Amino acid sequence: MASYLNVQSWLRPDQAGLYCVPGDFHIDPHAPVPRAVITHGHSDHARAGHGAVLATADTLAIMRLRLGEAAPRETQALAYGEALTVKDVTLRLVPAGHILGSAQVVIEHKGQRAVISGDYKRHHDPTCAPFELVPCDLFVTEATFGLPVYRHEPDTGEVAKLLASLRDFPERTHQVGVYGLGKCQRLIALIRQAGYERPIWLHGALRAMTDYYVARGFDLGHVPSVADAPDKLAGEIVLSPPSALGDRWSRRFADPLSGFASGWMRIRGRVRQRGVELPLIISDHCDWPELLQTITETGAEEVWVTHGREEALVHEVGKRGITARALRLVGREDDAE
Ligand SMILES: [Zn+2]
Ligand SMILES: [Zn+2]
Repeated sequence: MASYLNVQSWLRPDQAGLYCVPGDFHIDPHAPVPRAVITHGHSDHARAGHGAVLATADTLAIMRLRLGEAAPRETQALAYGEALTVKDVTLRLVPAGHILGSAQVVIEHKGQRAVISGDYKRHHDPTCAPFELVPCDLFVTEATFGLPVYRHEPDTGEVAKLLASLRDFPERTHQVGVYGLGKCQRLIALIRQAGYERPIWLHGALRAMTDYYVARGFDLGHVPSVADAPDKLAGEIVLSPPSALGDRWSRRFADPLSGFASGWMRIRGRVRQRGVELPLIISDHCDWPELLQTITETGAEEVWVTHGREEALVHEVGKRGITARALRLVGREDDAE
């Protein structure tokens, strides 16, 4: 109980997000602040308008790609595992297994350790460093899939479904909706691991980020742009933002069959609502068992839940004798998954 009171005295939510008092910085703030530590490049975590920004080199590069002119000017890159003293705290970034560059923020102050995990997952992902467990007193977690119904399937089975559909419907273009940062590149890598060597065609909105992954050394094979396609791409894989599914843009394809790679594809209502013929349950967030496993493994006495399905997780963690609290941070979008 003593440690609980102590951590709360130096780390707390305020109007801009989560604030570390003795280090005088925010973590993933949703409003502009003088000093921000950013866990990863997704838009609901890495916003424009901060003074100084500290993150991994990949997250900073992704922010420059996404934000352009609005990207932060005063930046500091910190490698995974490197310790940095910031005023009265020690800070480290540790892999979160979510997307390229994603990090958990480990803060130590007066013998206590808080871990702010940002978004994270434990499932295998060939396009980022695996999640690293850090024992701590306070663990701050998201709960995007914080309900027992959410169980993500092994991704190899989901990719096999896609390849089987291509064999069954060789006359149809397979257009799969993907979130542009992380999911897109992970899905390409998984398809390649399954032995598929044909071109994987990209919507223009996916080009810059995919090129960044390739420049960083990920072998994604031949990934041409749909704009350069010679024909209607019958029997080929096309990746696009989810918003382009069933859109005018899709009319150029041969009887397009729409797929969607997302943890939300576990929910039939969402599949129907989007008119998805081929739901692929591939998530970059923890499912329910992974959330509980991770919380238990950290040994944390206290858990704070930033966003998502907070109530169920707070309740379940409480039953296990761990103090849990919902922060209800604003500005987080669990749709981008
Ligand atoms: Zn994210
Ligand atoms: Zn998020």
